[in-house]
Amino acid sequence: MHEFKFIDNELCCERVRVSDIAKNVDTPFYLYSHKTLIDHYMKLKAAFRSIKPLICFSVKSNSNLAVLRALVKKDAGLDIVSGGELYRASLAGANPKRIVYAGVGKKQGEIRDAIKFGIHFFNVESEEEIRAIQGIARELNKKVNVAIRINPDVIPKTHSHIATGKGDTKFGLDFETAHKIFNSRWQYPNLDIKGLHIHIGSQILDARPFQEAIGKVLSFLKQNHIEAEYLNIGGGLGIVYAMEHPQTADHFAKNILPILKKTRLKIILEPGRFISGPSGILVTRVIYTKRTPRRNFLIVDSGMNDLLRPSLYAAYHKIVPVKSAEYDSSDLERVDVVGPICETGDFLAKDRLLSQAKSGDLLAVMGAGAYGFTMSSNYNSRPRGAEVMVIGARFHIVRRREAYKDLVRGETIPKALR
Ligand SMILES: *Cc1c(COP(=O)(O)O)cnc(C)c1O
Repeated sequence: MHEFKFIDNELCCERVRVSDIAKNVDTPFYLYSHKTLIDHYMKLKAAFRSIKPLICFSVKSNSNLAVLRALVKKDAGLDIVSGGELYRASLAGANPKRIVYAGVGKKQGEIRDAIKFGIHFFNVESEEEIRAIQGIARELNKKVNVAIRINPDVIPKTHSHIATGKGDTKFGLDFETAHKIFNSRWQYPNLDIKGLHIHIGSQILDARPFQEAIGKVLSFLKQNHIEAEYLNIGGGLGIVYAMEHPQTADHFAKNILPILKKTRLKIILEPGRFISGPSGILVTRVIYTKRTPRRNFLIVDSGMNDLLRPSLYAAYHKIVPVKSAEYDSSDLERVDVVGPICETGDFLAKDRLLSQAKSGDLLAVMGAGAYGFTMSSNYNSRPRGAEVMVIGARFHIVRRREAYKDLVRGETIPKALR
């Protein structure tokens, strides 16, 4: 469920008309519902209340400071993957003890900053990395918590680009190497190897791959008599984009709690999409309509630079007119919704049956709150749109639209060229 609903044929976010926001901030813009965000976080929290896990929101799914702050205020932890995300976490007022840090390529400076900030855990993805963390921890004279990210070699049914738990991806360590690290704990006097981490992929619709991966990890611990305090089961819960029937938080919990409860491990979750995905839409305006002998196009003012997922993963996002009253439902037309970017791959939807739209109409791209703005770029020198958050009856601009000046910030023409 989300808080984007039609009231009197007008799409509203909570109690605010989307068209009113468009009048005020222009298009395109991302629009987030505070209530939807918090509701989804609370759903997970409630489903797992019997084991009180640490729920670390995956910052890379939506890193806007207002989004992070809203969740942090509800006591959410954060799952980060870079020094930049650490910086955002600190600005959002996150409790360092609720931050976990994954990623295969953490640089020395990033590791140092995270140790100084006092994060809860590093999720370690290679032997060289754990040696680097040990070296920096010794330099800083600190004891640092790490968990070993395991690549459990399971294949969830999802797009191959978002399956991270297959044996041949770059993520995590194989069981053998993990075993070797546990057996040589003495080599890491400044580290406390607290547990294991898995994150097997994204947009996973049922519990089976999780059960399989957790099962593998638990038998690894048991067989090798490894003492661990934490198990981080990652993120990856799927949401509705089209006609999927993803597991609910309750179903997910019901299916994995029995396995988790058999252990005495403290559990960490890292949901991203599940919380931020349904909480955001992208609002765009039709610039032109164009009919060709082969196809009809709606050319809109946002493209792959604003929302990359359709181009990158062939992802489906539902598109609806913001004012549905202007349409007659018999008026459906098969269209491609495309952006202004000079790439054939620049589209938001293909072959979509939509009510006939005309230039100037507003469209909403649904389920765009995760991996939407965070993957946006300035390709074709297009300033990024605004980000707006509705809280109850009011909307707040939580990131202003970029200006042309922002496009060239940091660029200089060398003297030799003047
Ligand atoms: C991206 C990521 C997540 C979040 O994934 P979702 O599919 O958005 O839930 C969690 N953990 C790690 C380590 C990640 O890289």
